[in-house]
This record gives sequence, C-alpha cells and structure tokens, in this order.
Amino acid sequence: MMGTLVKFTIVGVSHQQAETAIQAAADAMQRVEAMFTIYGRHDNSVKAFNRSTPGDTITLAPEVDRLLQHALAIQAASHGAFNPLLGSLDLLWGFSADPPLTTPPPADSIAAAIPPPACIEKQRGGWVRNSSNCKLDFGGIAKGYAIDRGIAVLKEQGIQHAIINAGGDIRLIGRHGDRPWRIGIRDPRHKGEVIRTLELEGDVSVVTSGDYERFYIYKGKRYHHILDPSSGYPARGIRSATIIAPTATEADGWSTALFILGTKGIALAEAKGYKVLLVDAKGELHGALTPLHETPVHPQSE
Ligand code: AMP
Ligand code: MG
Repeated sequence: MMGTLVKFTIVGVSHQQAETAIQAAADAMQRVEAMFTIYGRHDNSVKAFNRSTPGDTITLAPEVDRLLQHALAIQAASHGAFNPLLGSLDLLWGFSADPPLTTPPPADSIAAAIPPPACIEKQRGGWVRNSSNCKLDFGGIAKGYAIDRGIAVLKEQGIQHAIINAGGDIRLIGRHGDRPWRIGIRDPRHKGEVIRTLELEGDVSVVTSGDYERFYIYKGKRYHHILDPSSGYPARGIRSATIIAPTATEADGWSTALFILGTKGIALAEAKGYKVLLVDAKGELHGALTPLHETPVHPQSE
C-alpha cells in the first residue's frame, strides 16, 4: 500500500493474535490511503477539493481536515518548505503517476503550476481555495499518518511490542524481547546498505525522505519527487533527511521539510525536540544522531 511494501513485526503474543492485529491495522492503513490519495479512480474529499471551483466551500472528511491543519502548521514552522498544496506541481512532474513520467516538464508549465502563497482558507464548515493551482497533496505526510493509525490499532488489539515499517518509514513500540529494536537508516547511494543503526524502544518513529525513492536521471541529472515550493523543481543539495519524532506523522512531515531546508533546517527541527540525520550531496552526514554501532550491522528490520 501507499506505493510501498508495508512490513509488520510483532513479538510477545500468539501467532493468531498477531495475525488478527496485523489484519486490523492493515485495514485501517488502507482506509487512510484511500481517504488521502489523489491518485487512482477511487473518489474522496481531497479529490473533491482539488476539482472544486475556486471560491466554493468544500467539506473535507474529519480526518483529512485534522491532518490538513497539522500539515499547515508544519508549513508555517518550516517557513514554507513543507507545502501540502503542491498537488498541481506533483501531478505535473508525475513521479507518482502510473506509469511515472521520466522527463522533466517544460519550465513554463512548472512556473504556472506553483500555487499562490496562502491559497487556502478555512471557512465555517470547510475549506476554500482561491486558485485552480491550489491542490491538496498529502504525499509528504499521509504515510506517517497511516503508520500512526496502524500503531493505534495494534495497541487497541493489546499489542505492546511491534514495528510497522512502510518502505523504511517506521514507528515502533515496546522492545524486541530482551533488547531494544534495531533500526537501520539506509545509505542513499548504496542499496541494501545502512549508514547508521539505532537501538530504540518505547514509542518512537523514524522517517526518512530521500532522493533515491522516486527518481530518474535525465541528461545526467537526478530528478526526484521532493519539490522545492519556491522553484517548483526537485530540491537540491540533500540525498536524505531522517527525523526521529514521537509520531510518524510529525517525522514524515518534518523529514520532507528538512530535505528541502537542508542543513539550515537542522536547528529548526532540533528546536522541536526531534533528532536529525542529513546526508548532503557530497555524502557527508549532519545532525545530532550519533551512531551506536560504528560498523553498520545488517538491520533486523530495515
Ligand atoms: P516524502 O517521501 O515523505 O518526502 O514525500 C514526498 C511526497 O510529498 C511527494 O511524492 C509529493 O507527493 C509530496 N511533496 C513533494 N514536495 C513536497 C513539499 N515541498 N511539501 C510537501 N509535500 C511535498
Ligand atoms: Mg514525508
């Protein structure tokens, strides 16, 4: 789901109890995906907003409404680096299309697809956009929200020790038996290798945004799916940005924001209490995440 393989790891309960809990969590996550996606044929309130006449008030599903407010808060706190209204631009670039596009769009179409600043407004009962270029896109945060929903369902099912891993974006609870969970942070240029291994326990999320997730090389240049709202082009200077935060929603939103902000965003993210690891275009590491293992061990759970 969500364009990736989602892996559930559960310890400390019977196989039967784990199976039941995983099914319930996966159902909840699939429901979140259907509610937020701007792709596919299934309709939802996000798509209704995106095709609405500017000036009309659109009622979003309550969960969409709440996550939008959270996303707008991250937009403000990241000085616009995170922007949940880049739907037109995202659809134009087509990294998430089926099949994905593999050449950059013309420069004038890119400029035309950038939404006006503050293009959305909350009205009584819903949201209004002021431009047809103002389209919701929860691609930078909905996966984290889905992971959080999945963990909430696992907890409801009595699970105390688990990881949900959606293509390297994770939230974990509890421990792995008599030791913490071991989490590897991917090397953005060497598939299957990790640059850091972390030992974590309790209830915590680790999310990475990377230029290796959805990309193509065109005329020797890498084009990827994380867009700089000020230029309309893929953000340059960073290969991956990892955030450790209490929830996957925050970690997801902020890892996308930090990818765009680059090293100058580290202080901002750390002031929020997050732990950060950035890999820049030279492969150098930045941020306070210190390795617990100097030699990367093969991750038990990516
Ligand atoms: P992530 O992999 O979490 O960094 O999210 C990337 C996805 O978020 C893209 O595929 C787009 O759907 C969306 N996106 C791209 N650029 C931005 C941005 N500047 N702010 C918020 N969402 C974005
Ligand atoms: Mg993200």
